[in-house]
Amino acid sequence: MGPGGACWRGGGAGARRWLSSRAPAPRVCVVGSGPAGFYTAQHLLKHHDLAQVDIYEKLPVPFGLVRFGVAPDHPEVKSYGAEDNRILGIPGENLPGVYSARAFVGWYNGLPENRDLNPDLSCETALILGHGNVALDIARILLSPLDLLRKTDITDCSLAALACSKVKRVWLAGRRGPLQVAFTIKELREMINLPGTQPVLNPADFTGLENAVKDAPRPRKRLTELMIKTALQKPGEVAAQAAAARQWGLKFQRSPQEVLPTADGRRARGVRMALTRLEGSGESAKAIPTGDVEELECGLVLSSIGYRSLPLDPAVPFDTQRGIIPNSMGRVEGAPGLYCSGWVKRGPTGVIITTMNDSFDTAQSVLEDLRGGMLDVSVSREGFGAVGSILRSRGVRPVSFSDWEKIDAAEVARGKAAGKPREKIVDPQEMLQLIGH
Ligand code: NAP
Repeated sequence: MGPGGACWRGGGAGARRWLSSRAPAPRVCVVGSGPAGFYTAQHLLKHHDLAQVDIYEKLPVPFGLVRFGVAPDHPEVKSYGAEDNRILGIPGENLPGVYSARAFVGWYNGLPENRDLNPDLSCETALILGHGNVALDIARILLSPLDLLRKTDITDCSLAALACSKVKRVWLAGRRGPLQVAFTIKELREMINLPGTQPVLNPADFTGLENAVKDAPRPRKRLTELMIKTALQKPGEVAAQAAAARQWGLKFQRSPQEVLPTADGRRARGVRMALTRLEGSGESAKAIPTGDVEELECGLVLSSIGYRSLPLDPAVPFDTQRGIIPNSMGRVEGAPGLYCSGWVKRGPTGVIITTMNDSFDTAQSVLEDLRGGMLDVSVSREGFGAVGSILRSRGVRPVSFSDWEKIDAAEVARGKAAGKPREKIVDPQEMLQLIGH
């Protein structure tokens, strides 16, 4: 029903105080059932005795990108959301063989809209554009031994496609340097230790960085030290990498300029990268093209340069530049009673804990506004009662939480047979049939 993150209207604007115990219970509508929606609802319910919260979701299954975004082999961090991706804006971006990370992640996680992506994995070299955690997630899924993936809730059809994959080399290219990578140490370490794969890092990329990073914040320092240590390792030095059939590596200071077509123009055969130099230092260093270019041969290109939220409704303000709803502490600017949380509030960065804290902040704004009399809750509102009758009048049968529990049980039962936590149903029609709709 809404973009990544959540949006809801809690009563109309007004100045009457909500204090009297005779006042009706405030009805809060949360749009979007991802982590931002659930954490906000949780905080409201915990800190307001009377609040009633309805959560709406456009899909028949809840949890947003907890279900559809996080890598299947990372069940402990299931997080993050937004419905679109940034585009590269370069020639060839739409050639067959080029996929957005969002679509690729949605495909292996069973997001209905991406279930037919059917990515072509018949080439040996894949290039991932971007140095974030999503880029590492994808590299890991492409190179993981099947036995590891089989035990996760990855969809059966993507598992079958990965079983036939010819991809054995994955490059991750970033436009800036090792000191500006956006991924984090846990995810990098996991990649380095992936059985049967060999990291290929060029020691020359790290010259002098040990010194440069001496006074950097600890996470950046440790991350850089791990890259340096890995770059200096000799092939086969790490037991898990001995006789590795697959490789992955980081390429720095390369900005994508054009996706190159095969001679018949039918698909991607590589990417022309503009070499860059860094202007400034640290996190804010800028990548400036040097004028030199390099062609990188690859049959699969995955653009992992960040997610993007989409506007919810023409009536809701939206900053298209930044891909967020303009807000102050979650209060949507110019729309009293409307609040936002999650990636649509602050942009597509951060892990589950960031979204949790951010959602609690938004819920806190709602609570302050209720207590300060900024929201008119003097009139009883029907909440889902009203929405439900509109939906019925349009012939729409909503899926309730107990309906979801039936879908959940069916998925878990199907997964059990295959030794997986669940086998996701990827066809919404099948979900609806299962609950008798
Ligand atoms: P991200 O962390 O923002 O990384 C995006 C990458 O794309 C950066 O390397 C960025 O480089 C690059 N980029 C952006 N625009 C570009 C352009 N026009 N051309 C070339 N490169 C470009 O985004 P993400 O990987 O999508 O992750 C989103 C959030 O989810 C992050 O906070 C991430 O940590 C989190 N996440 C966490 C986990 C986990 O906890 N395991 C897993 C997945 C995602 P610049 O720095 O130069 O802009």
